[in-house]
Parts: sequence; structure tokens; C-alpha cells
Amino acid sequence: MRVAVFSTKPYDTRFLTEANAAAGHDLVFLEPRLSPETAPLAIGADAVCAFVNDDLSAPVLETLAHGGVRLIALRSAGFNHVDLATARRLGLTVTRVPGYSPYAVAEHCAGLILALNRKIHRAYNRVREHNFALNGLLGFDLHGRTVGVVGTGKIGVRFIRIMAGFGCRVIAADPYPSDEAVAAGASYVPLSTLLAESDIVTLHCPLTPETHHLIDEERIAQMRDGVMLINTSRGALVDTAAVIRGLKSGKIGYLGLDVYEEEADLFFEDLSDQMLRDDLFSRLVTFPNVLITGHQAFFTEEALHNIAATTIASITAFEREGSAARIAPDALVR
Ligand code: NAD
Repeated sequence: MRVAVFSTKPYDTRFLTEANAAAGHDLVFLEPRLSPETAPLAIGADAVCAFVNDDLSAPVLETLAHGGVRLIALRSAGFNHVDLATARRLGLTVTRVPGYSPYAVAEHCAGLILALNRKIHRAYNRVREHNFALNGLLGFDLHGRTVGVVGTGKIGVRFIRIMAGFGCRVIAADPYPSDEAVAAGASYVPLSTLLAESDIVTLHCPLTPETHHLIDEERIAQMRDGVMLINTSRGALVDTAAVIRGLKSGKIGYLGLDVYEEEADLFFEDLSDQMLRDDLFSRLVTFPNVLITGHQAFFTEEALHNIAATTIASITAFEREGSAARIAPDALVR
């Protein structure tokens, strides 16, 4: 199949080319992000391979479908950026990569917590300037602290195991509680209890209309003073303006983000020569107790290998049957 691969970075080319060696699809690597302006680049392709910040809204899907595209193969687990109703109407099949490496995200999340708590990002800079003073670097033992996990799917469960290993008390909230999360060491509580009792709150649920701005002014007010808030899921789970107010008042003591609501215009690009026009992001990076990474939680060898292998497998399954019939059920977005 001819596949137009959008938002291609050198690592995508490497891993997809390796995974495609046996399958032999005609992969056309395109650097631009998928948007209404770039969608015509896919005309003549049978499939489009897209990433998290590609635009898969109705006008883009219309252009793709009318240009002959029948399959949208997402290189991500999340599919909140796809207008699924329009995709269905146009007869487009949509696939994703479920749980390509939940360890990658869970471990990055633990990394953000450790770095924020022990101020490793600040210590790194100090030592480079031969400043060995410890003032301002005081942390706390994770052992015995309460960690609240919102969303106990594949990533949440791995993360619970890690924090249980630190000797934390782990509490969790999820509309669909799982035995696996309990076996990993968590106990389920209502979200309001989780917010009130947690020293660290971390988000591992998908972005849906129900979870949009899940963490808003009201929910921040329910949290402990000086709480650590971590978001490695999707930016819009958090109301950034409300979080900034929480940081300014001291209610939020630490903030760790791997995702940001308006990240599409920022992340995955080197903008170091440019002035940032996003005032909220610019404000966030001024706080010493905020640590932001640019959507890199997934970025491990294992994850990129699995993403490429599953994506190519879905494309091959679609090609064989000419329909979604053979695609692995958990890779198919319905
Ligand atoms: P998953 O589908 O296995 O688990 C999601 C869990 O969230 C489910 O148990 C679901 O019941 C729960 N949930 C849904 N609505 C909820 C709500 N209102 N409150 C609490 N829980 C709720 O997904 P996963 O593989 O664990 O991934 C979780 C999220 O992580 C993805 O949706 C994606 O947005 C994000 N992610 C980020 C990166 C990254 O690089 N930063 C990489 C992969 C995934």
C-alpha cells in the first residue's frame, strides 16, 4: 500500500523502514504536520500514517477520503485528535497503537517526580556553575507519601507498581476499576478523596469530552497545599490558566508536564531561534518548581520499535482484506 507518513522525524523513518522491510509497503515520508494545507500531499496514497499533533479534523478527513485514502494509521495510543464521526461517515478505517510501551510513560512519570522532588534540574545547573550550596534543594522521602493515580489502564498500573516499590501509599480513581491495579498495590477511592489525600496527583486517563479540564480551579482547590501535579497524558486534561494561579498561590508546590494543551505549535520542533508567542507556556517555564518535557515520555527504543511494528501490521492486515476485518481488535478505533 502507498502510505503517506506525516510529521516524519529521522527516528520515524528509521523504525518504520525497519518494520516495513518484510511488508514492502510504499512509505512516503513527509516532514510537514498534517493540516488542511498539507492534506493534498496524501492524494494518491491508500493510507495516511499520523502522529499526536496531526490535524485529523473533518475538513482534513474530507480531503484525504476524496483523494483516495481509506486507512488512517495513528502512530499513537491516544486518538482524541481524530473526528471519528466524520471518519465513520467517510468510510475511513482508523487504527492506533495501544499500549506500545506503558513502561516508557510510567518510568518517565517517575522520573519527573524524582527530579521535581529532589530538584535535580536545578542541581544540574548549579553544579555546572560550581555552586555546591544545598539551599533550596530540600526534598522529601517518597516512602510513606500518598500518590493519587487518575486512570488505571496500562500506564497507570505500571506506574502504581513503581510507586508501590518506593513504599508509597497508592490510591486510584477510575470509572472502571481493575483487579490488576489493586494487585499492583493501589486502593480505589472517589476522585474527591484522591485529590484531598494525595501528596502527588498524576493523570493517566485519556482525553475525552468528559475529561477535558478534569483538573480545573475547583479540583485544584480540593488538593493538599503544596501538592505535586504530574500530567503525562494529554495537555487538555488540565486547565493551564488555573494551574498557573495554583502555582502563584503556592497551592501547587510542584508541576511536572510532558504534555501541554497548546503543544501542537511547539513540541517536536527546535524553536530555539524564535520568540515564543504562547504566554501561558512562557509563564510556566519561569517557575523554578515546574519541569516540562516536550512529549517525550513515550520516546524509548522499545516503544518506537513497537509503534512501527504495530502500525505496519495494521496496514498489512487492512491491505490483505481490503477492510478492517483482520486488524487486531485493540488496534482498531471504533
Ligand atoms: P488505557 O486506555 O489503558 O487506560 C486509560 C484508563 O483511564 C482506563 O482505565 C479508563 O477507564 C480510565 N479513565 C477514563 N476516563 C477516566 C476518568 N474520567 N477518570 C479516571 N480514569 C478514567 O490508556 P493508557 O495506555 O494507560 O494511556 C493513558 C493515556 O496516556 C493515553 O490516553 C494517552 O493520552 C497518554 N499517553 C501519553 C504518552 C506520552 O508520551 N506522554 C504516551 C502514550 C499515552
